[in-house]
Amino acid sequence: MGLLALGTPLPWDEAKRYADHVRTHGITQFLHIWDRLKDRCGDELMWGDEIEYMVIKFDNDDRNAKLSLRQTEILEKLKTITNDIASDRGETDSVPTFHPEYGRFMLESTPGSPYTGALADLLSVEPDMRYRRNLARKYLKANEIPFTLTSFPRLGVPGEFMEPFCDPADAVSSHSLFLPEQITNPHARFPTLTANIRRRRGSKVAINLPLFIDENTPRPFIDPTIPWERNLYAEDHEAKDGAALPDHIYMDAMGFGMGCCCLQITFQACNVTEARRLYDALVPVAPLMLALTAASPLWRGYVADVDCRWDVVSASVDDRTEEERGLKPLQENRFQIPKSRYASVSLYLSEHWFNRPEYNDVYAPHDEAIFERLREHGIDKLLSKHISHLFIRDPLVVFSETIDQDDANSNDHFENIQSTNWQTLRFKPPPVNSPIGWRVEFRSMEVQITDFENAAFAVFVVLLSRAILNFNLNLYIPISKVDENMARAQRRDALHTQKFYFRKDVFPPGSTSATPTPSATSSGYSSPIDGTNGVPRKEKKLRNCYPEAPAPENGFRRTPVEQEYEEMTLAEIMNGKGNAFPGLLSLVVAYLDTLDFDETARQKIDAYLDLIRRRTSGSLKTAATWMREFVRSHPGYKFDSVVSQEINYDLVVALDEIERGTRKAEDFLPADYRPKA
Ligand code: ADP
Ligand code: MG
Ligand code: MG
Ligand code: MG
Ligand code: MG
Ligand code: MG
Repeated sequence: MGLLALGTPLPWDEAKRYADHVRTHGITQFLHIWDRLKDRCGDELMWGDEIEYMVIKFDNDDRNAKLSLRQTEILEKLKTITNDIASDRGETDSVPTFHPEYGRFMLESTPGSPYTGALADLLSVEPDMRYRRNLARKYLKANEIPFTLTSFPRLGVPGEFMEPFCDPADAVSSHSLFLPEQITNPHARFPTLTANIRRRRGSKVAINLPLFIDENTPRPFIDPTIPWERNLYAEDHEAKDGAALPDHIYMDAMGFGMGCCCLQITFQACNVTEARRLYDALVPVAPLMLALTAASPLWRGYVADVDCRWDVVSASVDDRTEEERGLKPLQENRFQIPKSRYASVSLYLSEHWFNRPEYNDVYAPHDEAIFERLREHGIDKLLSKHISHLFIRDPLVVFSETIDQDDANSNDHFENIQSTNWQTLRFKPPPVNSPIGWRVEFRSMEVQITDFENAAFAVFVVLLSRAILNFNLNLYIPISKVDENMARAQRRDALHTQKFYFRKDVFPPGSTSATPTPSATSSGYSSPIDGTNGVPRKEKKLRNCYPEAPAPENGFRRTPVEQEYEEMTLAEIMNGKGNAFPGLLSLVVAYLDTLDFDETARQKIDAYLDLIRRRTSGSLKTAATWMREFVRSHPGYKFDSVVSQEINYDLVVALDEIERGTRKAEDFLPADYRPKA
């Protein structure tokens, strides 16, 4: 989350009166940034991760694992600690930062300063993550542990799932049947977001996750733990009036989604053009990485038939009215809107010639007046579409103190809309008055149990981003197919049961130079930047600013879009299929072969790729599969889809032991996994 401005948030009835004001000034702010920085060029690669944690408290006497709501105290403590470390070192750059998140049991950490393109920085990712985890761990109470768990298996179960115990009856913001007010970060922004989503929508959010039907699950499954007859808030009847579906896990509050943890990566591009190119290239990658990182099969005390958080988060902040959702004719609202504010990307935005108009094939409404205003300012159609699509949304939290802003020196109104469009990728313009350039954020991944895995996926994504630029890869497929992949990616064991739409040929047409061809290098592909005399010139760092593949001559006949892609297994996408497509892992290896690593360094990177290779092949399980199997083989499991307090406790204890390296799980992590201090 961005900086938490202090102030008085307006209730929805008042906030909505400022929606146009925020949008208009938000665009003015964007245009100021655009005018100043559209030609900015030459920024080096800088990048960083964000890791979210949930603090879990073990109650060993009762054999219960609960969420600890001490976020405020913990963050204060960590602030003091990191300030002390910084003053001891005489600098702040190497000292990590901890941020608040939606859940009052959550923390987020980022590195003290972004990683650079230096090869050594690839190797400092995991130690940096571990340092952050250890800092948090060290200053928590003895029985509290920061877990990188995507969803808490018993969030919202009747009884004791958080410490201290609070009653959902007082959920004044969400009106939830399950989650008390205290589950939410008390900073005014979060309860207001929660309440304003509900008010704007005109009902509580309704999340229905397919239940995993086991041998003894009663059918149809009508959840006995839903307080069907509660009559406390106006929305209490919704569950029995159709919001809660049979054979599903029903959830009714923002906290179920925004209480999930994830792993995000932000890269700085050399200029706005490269940022847009990279954004588009990673759009089709997002669902694949979601399937590969799947880590959330357990929800509100039940086993789900899905492995990922994405649709839960999406539904948990879905503020669209019935009109916007197409359930009623438009009267009050301006648009029918196909997706929640938290959803996969709907528009490619690069002007690169790879990007054919046919790829933007889903309906993505935009604000026509804003579009025209951006166009009149000289901004091209695709970027104007992107921004005016984000700006169909209303601002949800408006602070009375910051309604009037200096538009030349603030981006608050712009960020208000931008940062509540939670898509798989985010195109991040430079902040005002800062040295930071144009960036792209990759947001689909689930957080992994260990920092070894988190580092592996972070490093893989940054290497893939360089491989894309270096080899001029074309990964475009129609957005409708990316959306279909998002849906498939979340299914149970999608990695091994689903096929995904992917491009058959990822190299630019006629390009022989960019096509890796067999050679003596370890990957079997030669570097496209071979120096003279056939001796590869190895690069000393990961860089930005790659030349683009030249556009083809006039008269070049393009393959019909429908023939450019096909359905592949993830193993084929990662390892290759046919002669034209070597696979993403091989492309990353081919890119690694262009870099000047010493042997030890390269071995460490290879270990990361090997983890991903083994997850792909199934010789190592995803966290989702591992947890699912743990539950189903627990002696207390009754094959009724229920994750009891005891099973949850044993699971969380086991995950902690795995993370610390005291319990072996050779079907989940490589045999030589050790958490290095
Ligand atoms: P948000 O929550 O808005 O996505 P955060 O501040 O939590 O943003 O995280 C931003 C990430 O971007 C961090 O990993 C940070 O290290 C990284 N970062 C910071 N500066 C740059 C930069 N100039 N280029 C790329 N990444 C950066
Ligand atoms: Mg976060
Ligand atoms: Mg963040
Ligand atoms: Mg954030
Ligand atoms: Mg931030
Ligand atoms: Mg982020």
